[in-house]
Amino acid sequence: MMKRFGMLIDGTWCDAADGAVFETFNPATARPWAILPDAAEDDVNRAVEAAHRAFRNPAWRGLTASARGALLRRLGDLVAQHVDEIAALETQDNGKLIRETRGATAYIPQFLYYAAGAADKLEGATLPIDKTAMFAYTLREPLGVVAAIVPWNNPLYLTIIKLAPALAAGNTIVIKPSEHASTNILRFAELVAEAGIPDGVVNVVTGLGPRAGAALSRHPLVRRVAFTGGPVAARHVIRASADNLATLSMELGGKSANIVFDDANLESATNGAVAGIFAASGQSCVAGSRLLVHDKVYDEFVDRLRARMATIRIGDPLDPASDMGPMATEQQLGVVETMVGRAQAEGAQVLAGGRRPEGLPGWYHEPTLLSVPHADVDVVRNEVFGPVAAIMRFSSEGEALEMANATEYGLAGGIWTRDIGRAHRLVRDIRAGILWVNTYRAISPMAPIGGFGMSGYGRECGFEAIEEYTETKTVWINLSDAPVDDPFVMR
Ligand code: NAD
Repeated sequence: MMKRFGMLIDGTWCDAADGAVFETFNPATARPWAILPDAAEDDVNRAVEAAHRAFRNPAWRGLTASARGALLRRLGDLVAQHVDEIAALETQDNGKLIRETRGATAYIPQFLYYAAGAADKLEGATLPIDKTAMFAYTLREPLGVVAAIVPWNNPLYLTIIKLAPALAAGNTIVIKPSEHASTNILRFAELVAEAGIPDGVVNVVTGLGPRAGAALSRHPLVRRVAFTGGPVAARHVIRASADNLATLSMELGGKSANIVFDDANLESATNGAVAGIFAASGQSCVAGSRLLVHDKVYDEFVDRLRARMATIRIGDPLDPASDMGPMATEQQLGVVETMVGRAQAEGAQVLAGGRRPEGLPGWYHEPTLLSVPHADVDVVRNEVFGPVAAIMRFSSEGEALEMANATEYGLAGGIWTRDIGRAHRLVRDIRAGILWVNTYRAISPMAPIGGFGMSGYGRECGFEAIEEYTETKTVWINLSDAPVDDPFVMR
């Protein structure tokens, strides 16, 4: 039996106006399991107009910042009560391990609580103006309708880090989930009304990127687009902003270096390499897909990593004993296979994995370690978004730095060393938005996420992200009773 979902517009669960639908697949079985509304431009327009009305409605607009915070806290409490259900939907949709989706969903309330606490700490300023008869101050005001366009690899978390700051600052939102992973966002959206958030403040339109996503990003009433995804869709959204002048945050891909020095704790570094590239089957924007290892420990590290990889249990993501689930889409599996094949044609050697595992019905791929002949090959330059690590040697700190920065991306990176001076030197010199020292893939509501270079711009999480959902209004007050004189000169 296929499960049927609706989408949320103006507090009402509905189908697309023209009745169009699409199927979503379970990557562990390669079978469709649910049917969702396939929103067209009309549906998107209804959602944006509802969000625009809600933005002006005193039921939302008239709330104090503390009252908005209280609603976000209630929403966080409700998510905490529904973790298992929301996590199971995500696992069914994108094939991520239930072990991971449960943990990640259980952490989501903390992002809502952080934004809730920040809501009434957003302040304007009184300005030390250089004109004695004037008093001036600034107000921080919400932007209006925010569009959140989200990919499939981490659907609810990547939604929440947009929604929480947007609502804390008093905006309203239209969410366009990925067509491959919408259902846990829809279940979450049912909790929005239960939390007491007024109708129209949160809307979810399901559908395809080039249709629903494109209509949303170019809508004239949208004031900000918070986008996470790949470079092709990103460029469409950026071009659309030339027309509606929406401000943007762009969280794109990466080709992050995970650097292992000869003084590192090699057991930890081995697990750090696995966390960096095989967790979530490598479908992570921050994946440590380039492993740079010091010459002196290279052979030992490769042995350790291959041994650790041999213990990785590939299987049903709903089974808590599995370590690696499938790729989220058949297309993504195709990309992984093509890139592994091309790497071999360019002279890479498969040190482990390299194929689809046998006997599993879904879109699985083995964890794969490739030693590459040099850095100028496709698999080193371009994001795979799968469980494929390219491993390379270096013999000095300078060489490691040069290799780490030899990419047009700049999202994340890892440094494994016991030398504190070296760690800080590299942190300073590596061009990336997030660096982990002796750990990998740690996140927190307080810690900004975002990239340099082709990995995008704007930051999510942390207080700075909440400020990005506001704009500044400057207010001038003439304190003098003297008549306003010469109107032809600037005051
Ligand atoms: P994608 O770019 O194909 O899709 C992302 C979203 O954009 C989806 O909702 C999609 O429907 C929508 N979209 C597609 N075409 C559009 C268009 N023309 N106009 C408006 N919206 C459109 O990405 P994906 O394949 O779902 O996700 C994988 C990519 O996301 C990878 O490149 C990965 O690195 C990146 N990613 C980045 C981060 C980060 O925080 N930096 C996190 C996760 C994923």
